[in-house]
Amino acid sequence: MSTNNISTNSDTTTTQPKSVSFLGLGAMGHHMAKHLVGQFETVMVWNRSFDKAEAHAKEFGTQAVNLRQAVTADVIFSCLPTSNIVDAVIEQALPHLSTNSVWADCTSGVPDQAKASQAKLKAIGCEFLDAPVSGQTSGADSGTLTVMIGGSAEALAYAKPAIECFAGLIVHVGDSGAGFAVKAVNNTLFAINAWAAAEGLSVLKAHGVNPSDALACINKASGQSFATLATFPDRIVNRAFPKTFTIDLMAKDCGIAIDLQTEKQVPTPVMAQVSSLVRAASNQHEPGSADFSEFAKFYEMMSGLDITDEK
Ligand code: NDP
Repeated sequence: MSTNNISTNSDTTTTQPKSVSFLGLGAMGHHMAKHLVGQFETVMVWNRSFDKAEAHAKEFGTQAVNLRQAVTADVIFSCLPTSNIVDAVIEQALPHLSTNSVWADCTSGVPDQAKASQAKLKAIGCEFLDAPVSGQTSGADSGTLTVMIGGSAEALAYAKPAIECFAGLIVHVGDSGAGFAVKAVNNTLFAINAWAAAEGLSVLKAHGVNPSDALACINKASGQSFATLATFPDRIVNRAFPKTFTIDLMAKDCGIAIDLQTEKQVPTPVMAQVSSLVRAASNQHEPGSADFSEFAKFYEMMSGLDITDEK
């Protein structure tokens, strides 16, 4: 790899970032990028389908640019479906990165791939942070996401003013890869709670209890979870199934968690079983075509009971 094209930004330890860019204006990135506007001298956006970048620029006052230009920013954000896609974008970006820039990847990614990206960027004087987010599209819209950071404290200190634009909470959880690991386990814990709630509500339905009445009690009692508080009333019981986070992305996250437990030989029978069930539910759909809440339809097929209220 040639480093001849690398321009030099100011030292990250002594200066504030002046330019930021956001790569990937999907369900999350579209909202996250808009919060950067007005906070930095230059706010650039790039998207594979360029019309989305142009629409973003028009709506929010960002600058729609090509990838080569976007990656010259002091802080570069990416929010793409998988680490493999991020790796491919980094390969294209490498000759054009500015020395001392920080790449913060908000994708829900693979810890080992974060370590490899950090090594690759470090070799040319840049830094990579894994910075996955939680809070759904609504949290991205309101700029209140929880951001789990893996990587160096210095890189985080430099990128923090930019991350803060869309964050309600930022936690430095460890070295490179730790942020992705926390995110994968978090989503698997959600999947476990959601699957368990589907089972519990179906047992109650079989005994004549309406799911909404059961949820009203559970959500003021010890069985509550994010799934019972939000996912079931807002997406499943009302049959809305809005497509904001696709089930194939959820299955990917559970798979990352399973790879982590396998690597360290930690027995996790519940995580493994629910991850496999989420994969089975995901396989019912084309990638990108169904919301994560549609796992409930897969369970309904198994149980023969709908998780809806009797009219
Ligand atoms: P979307 O599917 O809505 O958006 C994906 C984005 O990636 C689009 O901008 C798409 O571009 C781009 N993209 C897809 N394939 C490629 C490729 N091969 N090369 C370049 N760009 C590509 O995803 P989300 O925004 O929902 O998710 C992004 C990440 O955030 C995922 O890792 C997900 O797990 C995570 N996440 C999602 C949450 C949610 O509620 N949706 C919540 C928390 C985390 P194009 O417009 O051209 O298709």
